[in-house]
Amino acid sequence: MINIFGMPLAELQAALKPYNVPGFRAKQIAQWLYQKGVVDFGAMTNLSKDLRAQLAQAFVIARPQVKARLDSQDGKTTKFLLEYADGTAIETVLMRQPYGNSICVSTQAGCNMGCAFCASTLHGMARDLTCGEILAQAVVINDMLREENGSKVDTMVIMGSGEPLMNYAEVLKFLRLIHEPYTLGMGYRNITLSTSGIVPRMYQLAEEGLPISLSVSLHAPNQELRSELMPINRKYPIQDVVAAARNYADKTKRRVTYEYILIDGVNDGEEQAKELVALMRGQLASVNLIPINPVVERNLLRPSKARIDWFEGYLASHHVNVTVRREMGTDIQAACGQLRNKHLEK
Ligand code: SAH
Repeated sequence: MINIFGMPLAELQAALKPYNVPGFRAKQIAQWLYQKGVVDFGAMTNLSKDLRAQLAQAFVIARPQVKARLDSQDGKTTKFLLEYADGTAIETVLMRQPYGNSICVSTQAGCNMGCAFCASTLHGMARDLTCGEILAQAVVINDMLREENGSKVDTMVIMGSGEPLMNYAEVLKFLRLIHEPYTLGMGYRNITLSTSGIVPRMYQLAEEGLPISLSVSLHAPNQELRSELMPINRKYPIQDVVAAARNYADKTKRRVTYEYILIDGVNDGEEQAKELVALMRGQLASVNLIPINPVVERNLLRPSKARIDWFEGYLASHHVNVTVRREMGTDIQAACGQLRNKHLEK
């Protein structure tokens, strides 16, 4: 049986053609799937009983199951452990922000980038997620919000587990699909994609004509230290990553954000602050400082509040656009991959 969940309209129309389903009906089916939370054909009440039965013979509507749900104490952050039909589990996070509901989606089950500070990579990568599997993360949460209080998913960061640009084709298909009016109709400007710096794909993304925001995981200001923290830096050196980010900003006129996790005694010193300022000079960019969520397995610790403030102040006084990430959901281990790891270890 063929899974129709995750098909863009054109694919859906092609799949339904043998059943003489006209184009406008296919669109209604898409709306049932992506906007109304329908998970079986029986509920598609504007289709004839016969057609519903026929479709149920030929197709399935495969959505992941919510295996676990964790709510932070302040109620603002909810983390979901979702499981697909083959047993693969991934994490998705909902953050109720002052400006709306924001979700953080995963693009791979696990990750093989090997970053020293990241929990997602501890068990390696199981597999890429498909367009439909990524979309399902948004649809499951959107359905829940609609039922809860009539609200919806407003913004999205592609910052969960996995390296999105290593799963390029499915991620691009997903970006186009979530923008469609028959799904969530999400504006590209409300989407941010975060990458560890897959240079050729960053150039490719700049040519796609999608005005999404790009976020680059920098985490160190020089080649040597960045290679220690992020092995991918040996393949795509920091200078090339920065050049590709600049190209992205030039081509799309979108400001690039550099993420910089602050790690005590590793990358939070005066020397690194100086190097970072030099690296940022002349760029249409900002730096987002992220006090590390300590990953006990790696013994990487968070700097003192005073050190974090100092680092921020140093950048600001040297004319770098800088923010410190507001923390949400640390009490429920919302940092990448921590819930999934527990699930795998069980
Ligand atoms: N592979 C992509 C997207 C996933 S990681 C990328 O590298 O950008 C995205 C972000 O997760 C990192 O940049 C960082 O902001 C965050 N992150 C990962 N481990 C973290 C940790 N231990 N503490 C705080 N943030 C972390």
